[in-house]
Amino acid sequence: MSDLQQLAAEVSACTRCVLHKSRVKAVPGEGPAHADIMFIGEGPGFHENQQGRPFVGAAGQFLDELLNLIGLKREQVFICNVVKCRPPGNRDPLPEEIEACKPYLDRQIALIQPKVIVTLGRYSMARVFPNEKISAIHGKPKKVDGIVYVPMFHPAAALHQPSLRRTVEDDFKQLPAILAELDRVEEEELPAQAQQLSLF
Ligand code: URA
Ligand code: SF4
Repeated sequence: MSDLQQLAAEVSACTRCVLHKSRVKAVPGEGPAHADIMFIGEGPGFHENQQGRPFVGAAGQFLDELLNLIGLKREQVFICNVVKCRPPGNRDPLPEEIEACKPYLDRQIALIQPKVIVTLGRYSMARVFPNEKISAIHGKPKKVDGIVYVPMFHPAAALHQPSLRRTVEDDFKQLPAILAELDRVEEEELPAQAQQLSLF
């Protein structure tokens, strides 16, 4: 079993917060073990809870469309949530639930080591930008602990508020350039490292 599979098995059996009581299926997340991009949503909704997979409802369909817009398929990115079990009636996750579930997300990030993490909505944004407003910082990349975070509106918010749709699309369209820039910087740094090594 891979480390990610092991983690998913632990999540499925987890009883660290009350959300385990009402779940049908836990939703650990899915995607390549070393995806370049990771998307972090809020928590499973109705369909995710039924299927045990992230973003398979209406918001998920929109996420697929957004990925298509930049030439990506969902299979190429890692998709997960701040809490892995559905809050009843799709209520907001409580601070203690987010805290209880945090070790799983921390481990996923450590295992996958994505270059870019896109936070979808307030709750995943709060991990790294605790006192910011999404309306002020959406689409603005910021490097934290070696990972470039790009906060974005939640796709479900854009579904409910059509004026946000264009904003989310424009923020998504920036991702290829951000990744290309990271690759370029990596290439520039490699010869520098090789030079350093040759000194020894
Ligand atoms: N909304 C989320 O935040 N996550 C999902 O997995 C589905 C909808
Ligand atoms: Fe465990 Fe997270 Fe599910 Fe709570 S939401 S029971 S912490 S996996």
